[in-house]
Amino acid sequence: MTSEIYSQPSPPFNVLIVEDSPEDRELYRRILNRNGGTFKLHEAVNIDEGLDVAQRQHLDCIVLDYQLPDGDGIDFIHKYQDTKLANGAAIVMVTGRGSERTAVEAMKLGALDYITKSSILEGFFTQSILNAIERQHLKEEIVRYQHELERSYQALSEFSHTASHDLKAPLRHIISYCNLIKEDFSSKLDAQGLEYIKRLSVNAARLQKLVDDLLAYSEAANSREEKASVDCNALVAEIVEVLEEPIRETKATINAPGLPVINAFPLRMKQLFQNLISNALKYRDASRPPVINIAVKDKGTEYQFSVADNGCGIEPEYANVIFQAFKRLHSRDEIEGSGLGLSICRKIVEMHGGTIWVESEPGKGSTFYFTIPKPEARRMPLYGTA
Ligand code: ADP
Repeated sequence: MTSEIYSQPSPPFNVLIVEDSPEDRELYRRILNRNGGTFKLHEAVNIDEGLDVAQRQHLDCIVLDYQLPDGDGIDFIHKYQDTKLANGAAIVMVTGRGSERTAVEAMKLGALDYITKSSILEGFFTQSILNAIERQHLKEEIVRYQHELERSYQALSEFSHTASHDLKAPLRHIISYCNLIKEDFSSKLDAQGLEYIKRLSVNAARLQKLVDDLLAYSEAANSREEKASVDCNALVAEIVEVLEEPIRETKATINAPGLPVINAFPLRMKQLFQNLISNALKYRDASRPPVINIAVKDKGTEYQFSVADNGCGIEPEYANVIFQAFKRLHSRDEIEGSGLGLSICRKIVEMHGGTIWVESEPGKGSTFYFTIPKPEARRMPLYGTA
């Protein structure tokens, strides 16, 4: 592997022609052999024979007739993908006039191009095959980079998980000793000593929150839990119990009527709602008690949730920045926080295949929206339909 973005494929390319008509095979052979040394040709007259060649021979491209004696081109693609060789070869479907719909279906399944028999005669055949091979290589390259990226991300995530885990024990000791000093030695310390201990406690608590948030952040996208039915009404009720103290202190009202049951990672969903609700409490407007409205819209293929508050609001230019890790619009002296809450929310929403965004007006409040696709909304990736 080179470090280039794209490694150019080089000839000769192994091309399998799956075509039952001897005249057509002869025609393809004549056209492709004109480009001396560019193609090494293999031939099959039906689906079974074609699959047999594909099992034995590395192929760069399969030129597939739309109508074959033992099925059609779509059957071939299905069976070929089942052989786990599907990533190997570019597929170019040869269609007759009026079968464009089938060609489009073939492309949705992974074929990279289609060409009509008449355009073969017009001289587009060789270029179609070369283009498809090039696109197939690019596709594989992208998949390889995706895997590499996922591996690096996984390694980074494991590192931060281990690091934050290992920080927890010594930190707990620091906090315990701070408490012991406060309890047993307060009378022996002067005002300055007491102040130092107080600052030590505050900073240790801050560090503990940061370590907890880092752990949550590294775990957010690597959930080992299974997806299950999540009753969002019950979920919000649980969170209201957990946040009972700040809700009482701020005299907050939370409205969340008629939320749906969704298919999701239960603990992650709880964390998502909890982060958004506790932010709505934290970033309240000092002049009024918080009112938080949680609602949902059924958008057909997905649910669109909204968590609206009447808090301090966010300037429009920061609407995207706040979802990045460690980005805060408030200083620690104003309001405590690690700057990880919303980036955790984004990871959770993205691991469900949804998106998250905010609409806000400074001084009036903010509404955080996120979508969670419904299970039946999952679609196959449409390669090659550019
Ligand atoms: P933290 O709350 O720990 O700072 P977050 O990632 O949850 O981290 O939020 C990032 C920043 O976005 C916050 O520091 C705050 O400035 C802003 N913010 C988040 N939620 C709200 C909200 N509901 N209203 C106004 N500002 C918000």
